[in-house]
Amino acid sequence: MRYISTRGNAPALNFEDVLLAGLASDGGLYVPENLPRFTQEEIASWAGLPYHELAFRVMRPFVEGSISDTDFKQILEETYGAFAHSAIAPLRQLNANEWVMELFHGPTLAFKDFALQLLGRLLDHILLKRDERVVIIGATSGDTGSAAIEGCRRCENVDIFILHPHQRVSEVQRRQMTTILGENIHNIAIEGNFDDCQEMVKASFADQSFLKGTRLVAVNSINWARIMAQIVYYFHASLQLGAPARSVAFSVPTGNFGDIFAGYLARNMGLPISQLVVATNRNDILHRFMSGNQYFKETLHASLSPSMDIMVSSNFERLLFDLHGRNGVALAELMSTFKATGKLSVEEDRWVEARKLFDSLAVSDEDTCATIADVFKRTGEVLDPHTAIGVKAARECRRNLSTPMVVLGTAHPVKFPDAVEKAGIGKALELPAHLSDLFQREERCTVLPNAIEAVQAFVAQHGNRGRPL
Ligand SMILES: *Cc1c(COP(=O)(O)O)cnc(C)c1O
Repeated sequence: MRYISTRGNAPALNFEDVLLAGLASDGGLYVPENLPRFTQEEIASWAGLPYHELAFRVMRPFVEGSISDTDFKQILEETYGAFAHSAIAPLRQLNANEWVMELFHGPTLAFKDFALQLLGRLLDHILLKRDERVVIIGATSGDTGSAAIEGCRRCENVDIFILHPHQRVSEVQRRQMTTILGENIHNIAIEGNFDDCQEMVKASFADQSFLKGTRLVAVNSINWARIMAQIVYYFHASLQLGAPARSVAFSVPTGNFGDIFAGYLARNMGLPISQLVVATNRNDILHRFMSGNQYFKETLHASLSPSMDIMVSSNFERLLFDLHGRNGVALAELMSTFKATGKLSVEEDRWVEARKLFDSLAVSDEDTCATIADVFKRTGEVLDPHTAIGVKAARECRRNLSTPMVVLGTAHPVKFPDAVEKAGIGKALELPAHLSDLFQREERCTVLPNAIEAVQAFVAQHGNRGRPL
């Protein structure tokens, strides 16, 4: 499989190189040159497969030529063997024809484990083969950091530095990062906000001289391998609900358009998905596009669903690329307009094309809490605020009541106690068994000033398993 840039002006890469790449050299994002397409018979024959075996069949075309079948099978078995629920991504029914797909049974209790547990193992495999070391620098406002650290903690050839805004992440989220100890794991609390952290990561990718030749790898959702891993659970859920004979709809709590883009790809690979609902909080740039063809930057608002607090959706460019007939030149132009003006819209027929599949809703904090309370009252299930937004949007946007609607349950409610409490749920939530001693564990973290020189000097000083690069 070869991968090409959405802006049409960067070298095509194989899977191995795309795994180690950040943005393409022309500023675009990598996408498969040709998406694999499965027949209905083939998809039907996968019903009942264990998760890791289904994952092998869905993802095999993407890694072909870079990883052998035997190695890939073993990596997938290890990856998903570490999840706490034997169904890996169980479906829980809330209502007639309405399900939540629980994607929070991985080690850090959010859906990001599906991709980052795999990414860590893939990196380890490829880096050992190449006898190469890399450095990861990532910024987090919460879920990504812990999932990335958990995914990479056992990697022989990776040193990981995760920046979070000092005293601005919840205690559970901080402890999920800082209590994972290892000489290749470095938590840095920046005396600034999340944007400051993200800017430092971007600047480090732009000028890597401080790394003295060591390669820098991205773990945010622009990394293709993350999208790839998320395609699998759309197949998994759909097969249980009667696909491919029956079509299925999904509602996806969305920030950077990564998770929902994976659903869009699953459909283009042959899975009969009839509707995808973009569910956002009041940071609703994607809803503004889907409802009115207006994609423009606004100020950031802190919400009860912080993992979706974004101004711009980094993966949206991958959808725009397809909407423009995969014309890299046209896309480079569109994105440069966006960079200059902070807004874009597409030609009417392209937008109409997108709306055949996508609907959207922006959900307020009040409605998020009301949905948590309503679902709890009717079913006894406690939803996390992101999942609640997915449920609300599914109910408002649903096109066909006889089509099964699956809401992606993106996080465990114990990670977001504020929202659960605001929703008036009197029940105390317990940490799952593997995290029950989280509040007693030793923490390790370095506080640094809001200055890129300090961060880069720290990385250079500790980037080789705690020793200088
Ligand atoms: C990251 C995250 C999201 C948003 O996912 P995207 O791929 O950025 O759209 C939603 N919910 C939770 C709990 C998350 O951690």
